[in-house]
Amino acid sequence: MRVLVCGVRGSTPAPGPEFVRYGGNTSCVAVLADSDELPRLVLDAGTGLQRLSRSLDGHPFRGSILLGHLHWDHTHGLPFFPSGDRPDSRVRVFVPSQGDPEEVLARAISPPHFPIRPSQLRGEWTFESLEPGTREVEGFSVTALEIPHKGGRTFGYRVSDGRATVAYLSDHSPVSLGPGPEGFGEYHENAMALLEGAHLLLHDAQHTAAEFRAKAPFGHSAIDYAVGLAERAGVRRLLLFHHDPPRTDDELDAIVAGIHSNAVKVEAAAEGMVIDLP
Ligand SMILES: [Zn+2]
Ligand SMILES: [Zn+2]
Repeated sequence: MRVLVCGVRGSTPAPGPEFVRYGGNTSCVAVLADSDELPRLVLDAGTGLQRLSRSLDGHPFRGSILLGHLHWDHTHGLPFFPSGDRPDSRVRVFVPSQGDPEEVLARAISPPHFPIRPSQLRGEWTFESLEPGTREVEGFSVTALEIPHKGGRTFGYRVSDGRATVAYLSDHSPVSLGPGPEGFGEYHENAMALLEGAHLLLHDAQHTAAEFRAKAPFGHSAIDYAVGLAERAGVRRLLLFHHDPPRTDDELDAIVAGIHSNAVKVEAAAEGMVIDLP
């Protein structure tokens, strides 16, 4: 299994010289099976999705995009994906179940907010509702479970090819359930189920512990929470993800240098990372 990290930023893009090493595009990750020559499974469609066209090397995208939820930073890339917006593409978009999926997306992607609707993208696009559970998508076993965030139904994902497992919880903060053992939120049972023994976890790490008290109502995690959750679930490698827009490269370096875990390897997710598992 190969994981391509295309967008790592939370909330809104962060262009500028302070952000070039980790990247300013919002959430997007592609997963390839060992037998895949081109990416077919994509998690979220933030502005990082435009990067994926480079990996397709002139080919149309024929595959599936699983949206964790519908906040702007996870959908803005949909109409800016040249490999998907062409006559010979075939794109299945999965949306956490909440009414007609194309209609729900069109609330943000249609005039007067945007020139066209999702269904007007070129190629064969389908929009499908996703219920929690495990199913096969593009040859992977994909488990979707609802996790606490804020403002709309949110799924975390567990993707396995039978040998390697990656878990993706881009936006997650169970603080509404109580402070939890370290004060950053409860360890939610669905999150634990998605993470259990995963080789790689990409997890919301938007706030430092010092910031968390004031920002917890925004629905994101503290970095220490992500590390604690990964340790508890037996995750091998953690990529801190969904970086706060103003978080500079140097600040991320300092954050990672300050984390000492004997149980899990911790890094900050960076645009352009290619990770081969196991
Ligand atoms: Zn987000
Ligand atoms: Zn969100």
